[in-house]
Amino acid sequence: MEDIGQIGERPAPALSVVVPCYNEIAGLAEMHRRLGEACRAAAAPSYEIVLVNDGSTDGTGAAIASLATSDPHTVGIDLARNYGHQIALTAGLEFCHGERILIIDADLQDPPELLAAFMAKMDQGFDVVYGQRASRQGEGWFKLLSAKLFYRLLGHVVDIDIAPDTGDFRLMNRRALDHLNAMPERYRFIRGMVSWIGLKQAALPYERQARFAGTTHYPLKKMLLLAADALTSFSIVPLRFASMLGFVFGLFGLMALGFTVFSWLAGHVLPGWTSLASLILIIGSVQLLMLGIFGEYLGRMYMEAKRRPLYIVDRVVGPSGRNEVPRLREKLAEAIRA
Ligand code: UDP
Ligand code: MG
Repeated sequence: MEDIGQIGERPAPALSVVVPCYNEIAGLAEMHRRLGEACRAAAAPSYEIVLVNDGSTDGTGAAIASLATSDPHTVGIDLARNYGHQIALTAGLEFCHGERILIIDADLQDPPELLAAFMAKMDQGFDVVYGQRASRQGEGWFKLLSAKLFYRLLGHVVDIDIAPDTGDFRLMNRRALDHLNAMPERYRFIRGMVSWIGLKQAALPYERQARFAGTTHYPLKKMLLLAADALTSFSIVPLRFASMLGFVFGLFGLMALGFTVFSWLAGHVLPGWTSLASLILIIGSVQLLMLGIFGEYLGRMYMEAKRRPLYIVDRVVGPSGRNEVPRLREKLAEAIRA
């Protein structure tokens, strides 16, 4: 277990910072500057900054490559296309090899200066210190409301404790990260997976800032997809929901049947076409909804069953000697099993 951080040629730095970047050209240089300063203040001189270019189309890739060639602490990973935030993050987490690992967004919504506080908290003996948003600036009411509702819903449905109002902004130690990296699943809701691990975790409240530049890459559709990943990866309650509803509607049906027979005996002919039609519609739509839930889980099983790699690395850019291919997930999982 001990030498997992040493797989590969590079010596393990005290700190790795992993930053997924998608079309962040406007804020990239500023982010790198502030992050570098925070790292030097907290972990000088042994740190690495891993910038993952998630198939950007605005020149972010070239900017990352030039940062990686000019700064010996910075490594750039170019993914073969846009795989999405959670997968880009996964790529960086599998590649990095520091003793402690900070996850941070590229848009400076999470202040890099908090690193010192994260480190201090971890020194008290925690394996994971996650940022908890005390407030959020520069985000619309819809994002705030939907995020709030989502975390409350998740808290009710999921059987593990996922702290409300947390993102992926967090500091982990190597022990926690190795466990995370050993999880092979394709639909990744990383903050939930880290909660699932357990160990000693602590929250660090902070103020979430407005984006330094650009706009969010989480429009409604991606937020809904992330919510679906979170719910279905951690819970089969939606599947049980299907049988519950089936039971309730079965009861209704029996009552309706009793009523019909009773009226027939009483000699009434029912004129209720409208109610009948609406009943059929309701039951039909409930059945479709439930089929949809089954389909969702079935589809996910199908995708997982293919066992494709989660991402393809196009190239790794860094100072000489660092251009090796990231270590393989299998290698790591093997090491953990050993
Ligand atoms: N991101 C990514 N791939 C994507 C979308 C986003 O790597 O397909 C990165 C993005 O560059 C940022 C982080 O994920 O560093 C969070 O994205 P964003 O700030 O757009 O989300 P929000 O903070 O609005 O939830
Ligand atoms: Mg953001």
